[in-house]
Amino acid sequence: MAKITPLQSHANDMPQRMTEQAVRQNLAAAYRLFAHFGMDDLTYTHLSARVPGEEAFFIYPFGMLFEEVRASDLLKVSLEGEILEGEEYQYNRTGFVIHGSIYQAKPDINAIYHLHTQAGVAVSALKDGLLPLSQFAYHFQDNVGYYDYDSLALDYDQHGDPILSALGNNSALFLRNHGTLTVGHTIQEAFFYMYYLEQACQTQIKILSMNSEVEIPSEETCKQARKDMRDFEPDLGTRDWQALLRLLERQESDYQE
Ligand SMILES: [Zn+2]
Repeated sequence: MAKITPLQSHANDMPQRMTEQAVRQNLAAAYRLFAHFGMDDLTYTHLSARVPGEEAFFIYPFGMLFEEVRASDLLKVSLEGEILEGEEYQYNRTGFVIHGSIYQAKPDINAIYHLHTQAGVAVSALKDGLLPLSQFAYHFQDNVGYYDYDSLALDYDQHGDPILSALGNNSALFLRNHGTLTVGHTIQEAFFYMYYLEQACQTQIKILSMNSEVEIPSEETCKQARKDMRDFEPDLGTRDWQALLRLLERQESDYQE
């Protein structure tokens, strides 16, 4: 089996340098990895990546489990929600609404993930949302938005713009009472943010469950922490991604097919 190339971290390079097959393989890897970490939700929730050089994105067919997705299973969908390649089990308009509106408005975003983990839903339902209680959470200092619950967000015209303005320039969005969403310039960056959003949520739940007084650093310190972590790792998630692909290669390399 040929080794696959992770997406380049420079957004401007990606559409020129990545083949469609490489994007398919990396996105299929993201599906497998979220399943590996227990962050999937049966056949619901969805991950997508922009198709290089086209007004379209890849997403899995509604009806598959994350753990069974292969590169060749991914649908190619236009930004307006029309299926260009592949076949649906059942047309999932909801999946396309969120992804299409973000890709249309943000040309530098190349990957979008939406999950329903219990920890993510739990924190989304708190009035104060994510609190600066752990270093995991400092990746989201001034970097997370909130979108009030509005059922299934089925209507592109009605929900596309409000979701977009709630996301703003942040890397993460809580869909209140529903789930989480992260965006990235690359597949691995969006993965990094989703993985650490989950760590931050799980840690917050554990801290608050101890029902004791907590230490919270100053806002200035939290901001500095985010800056320092970005400076430490400018190509966010890339080193981890290489290691995660090695993990898949040892355990379930058929995602590349
Ligand atoms: Zn959802």
